[in-house]
Amino acid sequence: MKIAIYPGSFDPVTSGHLNIIQRASRIFDRLIVCVMVNAGKKPMFSLEERVAMISKVVADLPNVEVDSSDELLAEYARRKGGCVIVKGLRAGSDFENEFQMALINRKINPDLDTMFLTAEHQYMYLSSSTVKELASYDVDLSDFLPEQIIEDFKKRVSTIHQGGNRK
Ligand code: ADP
Repeated sequence: MKIAIYPGSFDPVTSGHLNIIQRASRIFDRLIVCVMVNAGKKPMFSLEERVAMISKVVADLPNVEVDSSDELLAEYARRKGGCVIVKGLRAGSDFENEFQMALINRKINPDLDTMFLTAEHQYMYLSSSTVKELASYDVDLSDFLPEQIIEDFKKRVSTIHQGGNRK
């Protein structure tokens, strides 16, 4: 059974992420989308919220599961028996960093390969940060976020803007 892991911050999951998930789920027998805790990033959404949003958008993909971890990715992959890491590659900006991470992961776990899927052209410039910036304005988000989470996203953003319980 070919298992792949798609790691990321998913703060929040975007249509670009979902496109990678759908394509990878057709290539592998089982795909684990894993929200990784990154001490360097201060997320807008809690780990539980990010997992819940991804679970909502992958509900119709039976071979996709959602998880979270604060482990080193190479160790997590070893524990899960995952032999391939899937990454999405956007125009220019992702390459340098992703290439470096792929090499480091392979150094730590020599059985671990990284496979890159090129971003779909309409999502090439889409990132979670862009969506968070747009959230302050009254913009139609349907080109950027999976429709199942747009309302959740807007509600959460308005809570934050009202100075509410930011997690
Ligand atoms: P971001 O860079 O938006 O904070 P993540 O850390 O959640 O995203 O990204 C997880 C993975 O998804 C990375 O491999 C990243 O390159 C990829 N990715 C992010 N946005 C897109 C997109 N619009 N299209 C394809 N891949 C993407």
